[in-house]
Amino acid sequence: MLAPGGTIGILGGGQLGRMMAMPAAQLGYRVHIYAPERDSVAAEVAADFTCADWADQAALAAFAAACDVVTWEFENVPVGPLAAIESKLLPHPRALETAQDRLKEKRFVESLGGSPAPFAPVDSHEELLAAVERIGAPGILKTRRDGYDGKGQWRIASLREAEALAMPHAATIYEGFVRFHGEFSVILVRSRAGEVRFWDSTANVHLGGILSTSTWPAPAEIAAQVEPARALARQVAEALDYVGVLTCEFFATDAGPMFNEMAPRVHNSGHWTIEGAATSQFENHIRAIADLPLGDTATTARHVEMRNLIGADALEAQAVLAEAGAHLHLYGKHEARDGRKMGHVTRITR
Ligand code: AMP
Repeated sequence: MLAPGGTIGILGGGQLGRMMAMPAAQLGYRVHIYAPERDSVAAEVAADFTCADWADQAALAAFAAACDVVTWEFENVPVGPLAAIESKLLPHPRALETAQDRLKEKRFVESLGGSPAPFAPVDSHEELLAAVERIGAPGILKTRRDGYDGKGQWRIASLREAEALAMPHAATIYEGFVRFHGEFSVILVRSRAGEVRFWDSTANVHLGGILSTSTWPAPAEIAAQVEPARALARQVAEALDYVGVLTCEFFATDAGPMFNEMAPRVHNSGHWTIEGAATSQFENHIRAIADLPLGDTATTARHVEMRNLIGADALEAQAVLAEAGAHLHLYGKHEARDGRKMGHVTRITR
């Protein structure tokens, strides 16, 4: 167990790091943030901040030497330079390596018996046309790497649209469009000793590729698919010998849960756990990597809704504080750009 006063390093300076730093402080730890951007909303609530590039080996080594354990909140941290600090890292960077490449991720999940949407790797325009002919349209062309919140994605309605598409200069994957009843995620925490606990699964609604709301209880057609999805998520965690919070996103379909993607970290669809569960995803991630006993993941409310505040939504948000059961989280970002996650509101009915 990491003793109080120990230092937890977090790679990445965004809101997920900010929300992990708070329970870490509550448990008596110091937090040291490492991020390339000077403006870091996580560093604002942390004890120390190293502002350096991901490839700066000397800065990374000094950072790791100053920390007892290092984790990440940003899943696109380049994996190569992390090899030198691997002994301090939890989870193991093999989880990052798998999740950073959509093709690798889908093949890995298939090898465990999971079913992703039909897909094909696409490295040229000819391969795209062949993929659309084989899998059918509509579909989505996605970059294999560096996509998030719907970025790096092109919807393709027909073969004709595929013919006219200007190909991105990046390796991609074509996925058949899935007709789903709803979307949900399985969020679990796994301890160093291999104990696994799950939070309840909310129904997640996305707008323009960005999560808009997470609601619990989820409708029956989602609730009925949570158990098999959990079984797959547990296998993913075990195969990676994962430590900490892991998220797997699913589509609820007629054929059962269809794997969409995984995030080897705390997740936006788990923000509700701060007020809606006995122990939040953020606290349990810290507990797992610090080798503390895991906290109870039970939902403590009858109804929960988390709504993201995107761009200008955040400007008038303080008004919700007049509502009983509404909890406001603002991430401290100065510029309310379109599509930027500025905060969230969780509404709880007990
Ligand atoms: P992703 O970043 O891949 O999770 O995509 C963001 C959102 O786009 C998902 O949560 C879905 O709402 C939608 N989406 C992505 N891939 C598909 C697909 N193959 N079929 C239908 N909807 C999709």
